[in-house]
Amino acid sequence: MAAESVLNDLPIMENGTASGMGAFEEGWRYMTANYSRFQIATYMSACLHICTYFIFCTPAFIFQFFRFMDRYKIQQDKPATWDQEWKCFKLVIANQVLIQTPFFSGAYFYCQYMNVPFDYESMPVWYMTLAQCFGSLVLEDAWHYFLHRSLHHRSIYKYIHKIHHNFQAPFGMVAEYAHPLETMILGMGFMWGILLFCNHLIFLWCWMCIRLIETIDVHSGYDFPINPLHLIPFYGGAKFHDFHHMNFNGNYSSTFTWWDKIFGTDIQYKEYYSKLEEKNSGKKVN
Ligand SMILES: [Zn+2]
Ligand SMILES: [Zn+2]
Repeated sequence: MAAESVLNDLPIMENGTASGMGAFEEGWRYMTANYSRFQIATYMSACLHICTYFIFCTPAFIFQFFRFMDRYKIQQDKPATWDQEWKCFKLVIANQVLIQTPFFSGAYFYCQYMNVPFDYESMPVWYMTLAQCFGSLVLEDAWHYFLHRSLHHRSIYKYIHKIHHNFQAPFGMVAEYAHPLETMILGMGFMWGILLFCNHLIFLWCWMCIRLIETIDVHSGYDFPINPLHLIPFYGGAKFHDFHHMNFNGNYSSTFTWWDKIFGTDIQYKEYYSKLEEKNSGKKVN
């Protein structure tokens, strides 16, 4: 009611927005006033997905041209080649057009069926959305651990998951370099958060962006000492998932470290890094 009465006092512009709003509110109101729910849920979600993906892949892509960034590269002996990056780019684009965009038109029908609001007035408070995104990460991580581990079973590994392991030293774009079936199987983990928490379009978009940023970060191939994602408790990060690509076994979780700890699938990872530390401290003493 309060928001409505404030809005009523503001002069309404031709495009349906009112002067005196913040840029975000103005943009959001412009979008809902000028585009249909189908256009917003399908095309804008797909655009947001593609833009977020490539924007967050860019820093690690640029770092490869600066030698002083090599100290943060996890597998320094395996730099990405142009051929690898081009090959990855082609499959990622195909995946985004053929799987992700139809997925978002499915998201539209879901939003219609569940009456998910798109309007500015119904937008939940930011901390609620953030908490729901954290809950979604926890659910996705559990799904990912068990399904990803199953995809490593020797009877099916070569048919589906082997494609994602094409790159022993990953780089950002590898995050979505996968067999279409894998994109669907592991992508189901993304759906749990939507099924349980989706109370507004803003949640869908925030959850999608957070999950993308997280998976690009863990595939970036770079481990930075200053990374805000490491403020998330039990966050595995690039070093954790990079080891999975290097070793093929262990570290099956996507985001957190607890499932691997509980099932002992992080033992090789811990041994590897404790040996590396011993070796490095021995070098320093000598
Ligand atoms: Zn794997
Ligand atoms: Zn991976």
